[in-house]
Amino acid sequence: MSLGVALAPVGCQQVVEGASAEAPAGGEGSQVAAVAAATPLKGYADLHVHMFSEAMFGGGWLYGIANHDDYRVALRRCSGNLATTDHAATRFGPLNEFLSDNGVTDGDAGWHWGKRRGWDERSWPFKQEDWEHWPSWDAIAHQQVWQGHLQEAHRQGLSLTVVSAVDFRPMCEVMENRKAILMKDGRCNEYTSIKWQLQEANRFAATHSWVEIALSPAHARRIIAAGKLAMVLSVEATEPFDNRADWQNVLDEYISLGVRTFQMGGHINTAFAGATVMNKAYNAMQWIENYFRNGQCFSTIDGGPRCTYDDITLLDMVDLLELNPRNGFTCRNAAGQVGACNAAAGYTNELGLTPLGVQLANALMDRHMAIDISHMSERAVQDLFAVAQSRGNRVLYSSHSHFRERLIGDDDHMANQTQEKPLTSMHINVIKTTHGMVGLRTGPDYAMAYAPSGVADSCDGSARSYAQSLAWGVDQGLNLAFASDMNGFIQQMVPRTGDEGCRGSGQRDSQSYRWVAPAANVSDGLGGFAYPSTEYLQWYQKQGFGHIGLLRPVFEDMRSMGLAQKYLDNLGASTENFVEMWELAQSQ
Ligand SMILES: [Zn+2]
Ligand SMILES: [Zn+2]
Repeated sequence: MSLGVALAPVGCQQVVEGASAEAPAGGEGSQVAAVAAATPLKGYADLHVHMFSEAMFGGGWLYGIANHDDYRVALRRCSGNLATTDHAATRFGPLNEFLSDNGVTDGDAGWHWGKRRGWDERSWPFKQEDWEHWPSWDAIAHQQVWQGHLQEAHRQGLSLTVVSAVDFRPMCEVMENRKAILMKDGRCNEYTSIKWQLQEANRFAATHSWVEIALSPAHARRIIAAGKLAMVLSVEATEPFDNRADWQNVLDEYISLGVRTFQMGGHINTAFAGATVMNKAYNAMQWIENYFRNGQCFSTIDGGPRCTYDDITLLDMVDLLELNPRNGFTCRNAAGQVGACNAAAGYTNELGLTPLGVQLANALMDRHMAIDISHMSERAVQDLFAVAQSRGNRVLYSSHSHFRERLIGDDDHMANQTQEKPLTSMHINVIKTTHGMVGLRTGPDYAMAYAPSGVADSCDGSARSYAQSLAWGVDQGLNLAFASDMNGFIQQMVPRTGDEGCRGSGQRDSQSYRWVAPAANVSDGLGGFAYPSTEYLQWYQKQGFGHIGLLRPVFEDMRSMGLAQKYLDNLGASTENFVEMWELAQSQ
């Protein structure tokens, strides 16, 4: 997108940061966009990071602290939950194992003796002075966005990051080790946790000179021009407004805490929108919620009414997940027929945008916010598109997704074509029409070969797979960015060598790493940033994309494997493209 030439400059205006997310049409946004054409922002963006999600699920899940200067504290050695659990554990063992299953390793949750690394304060021979293999690509319960690693990512080229405050109450309901400060009157409450995360983001930015929370696109330009990391705040939740009738006040409270973009879809159906149907765990939680939200009870194999989460037993959970998998979503095809949910077969969530969802969409548009369509059902996206079109083609984008027709396999633990979340031609049309963009997930997913990428598709689940989808997306006319989803309860791309290389397949035997540093004036703009040290490159080779500090090695791995420069250029322009998208949203 080059809005700079499309929008006429207007007079100089002083922005009062923090005053409002709003900007008058034709205001500062368009003026700065005009300036932007001459001096595009350098570096890339990560459109989806859960930096402070140690607060999610009642604070009982994620181990480690993002906002602590001392890595010996922030990333201290965990117990592996050997004797007693103090993190990474629900009340139901099988659920822990199901959630962390990835088909390659023993996983990262429940009992995880082999994953208990981090800083080890004991003396030789036990001392572990680095994070070799930890946190790894399969981490879903250990801190991956420690501030020291984020600062290194920034030094190496990350110039803008969308930090999303995230929670999902049903997971909190079944969690061990919850913390009262992250709950409300002893009950799970997403609003309390989200507010804590947003406040923590503000505390973090206030005490670290190299990062600032961007409150307008012009502000983001100034932050980045000053050599700092621009952090944009967002929200990803199922009950973001605490189910309050005056939800607009909660939205404005979030805005006062710095939120400038908003994800309308949750992990199961919300009061606002249908969710994308993804896997057995979420299907089961939707099934349970269908009862409890209506004040009803259910019973499973061992009988007796279950009327609250506290009533649910281990046997119930095994039954719901494994013996007799339950699915609380209702799916229909285009003809309106009900069938088993399977996006590849055309059966998707019947729920679109609710009347309340239309109100929320309008409230977000009134506040000139770019709306994130991630996790919204296909029908909800189509409904939202109609609202956006009726209001002058408002910006819609996807902060973290995949391209459905490029995915291979049907493993329940990675993105695939049976799932509703990956984008189709329908989504791509919506995003292109509204001048949005796509954050491409850095997951351990299989992708079809796309020859124009210039990269051999010879290592499933690695940066080689990512390069295929990235190139394909750019050739659809989309602007792309990274979407790491770090700390987001999801796995990352795998290494190409070692035991876990190429998802443990024989493909790893033909892989090697040949790092080729770019020229200083390389067209993707990365030549001006610090090149990863040997240590960082080696961590990436062992861990895959294990933490946020390894973002540049992902980029350089794709460069070194021969990804055509035009695709690296698109990724390298992602910060500029995001800020221009934000400028457009502000001007609408
Ligand atoms: Zn642990
Ligand atoms: Zn997320």
